[in-house]
Amino acid sequence: MIYTGEKQQTVAGEVVFSGVGIHSGRTTKLVIRPAEADTGLKFRRVDLPGEPEISVCAENGQESARATTLVKDGTAVFTVEHFLSALHALKVDNAVIEMDGPEPPILDGGSLPIVKSLKEVGFMQQGAERRYVTITEPVTVYGDKDHEQMVIALPADDFRVSFTSVNPHPLVGSQFCDVTVDEASYEKEIAPARTIAYEKEVEALHAAGLGLGGSLENTIVYSDDKWLTPLRFPDELVRHKILDLIGDLRVLGLVKGHFIAVKSSHALNGRLAKKIAAGLNG
Ligand SMILES: [Zn+2]
Repeated sequence: MIYTGEKQQTVAGEVVFSGVGIHSGRTTKLVIRPAEADTGLKFRRVDLPGEPEISVCAENGQESARATTLVKDGTAVFTVEHFLSALHALKVDNAVIEMDGPEPPILDGGSLPIVKSLKEVGFMQQGAERRYVTITEPVTVYGDKDHEQMVIALPADDFRVSFTSVNPHPLVGSQFCDVTVDEASYEKEIAPARTIAYEKEVEALHAAGLGLGGSLENTIVYSDDKWLTPLRFPDELVRHKILDLIGDLRVLGLVKGHFIAVKSSHALNGRLAKKIAAGLNG
């Protein structure tokens, strides 16, 4: 944990979103509100009695293959990674994220609409000093079944992600992307990248009660021989994986480090975050 002399910030006003959640298909209103210094990020479920809050921290992270889930005392929010990713990249230290349901709107499937709305409302500097979580020695996690699946966190003075994704489909294939994350690189290179789904997977997802809010408006769908959605980048898949990783790491706070990921998933990202958090506390 280091201080750099920078000040904490929150949003300068309310930032409001509304739309369907990609998995639940339910329409949800989400409002990002200013919060006091040292609050961190918190979700608040305004649809439940007592409006329970869930802090964004590694301890509240729950392993899930498809989406980032946070749980506190039986109250959950899920698929929160795109909002956390934008708030991380734009260095929002403190905010309360109110939702009238468990899952935020998926919007266009990436985080560019979130970045744009946050920038429109703007930020307010606070008196307290900003803290960064830093990596002091290499931390590695591997996939349970697939040892090619891994993430390594290394010490670095900035926040950098190098990601290799491997997909057996000839249209997608192996992709590599390396980005040093700041507001400008994030907005241009990462935020526009959307969620991806294989046409044949969609039916199985629906049968499992997932992806019910998915459509060609918010998901890049590909079939055996073509893209059903025009791509924004030839390597949009790996860019979106970076978007997700930036969101998954926000449970730690604002981070500095070099994260090298191969075939990583939400579950593995979450395990890395827990391991780093355990090192911070231990
Ligand atoms: Zn995602």
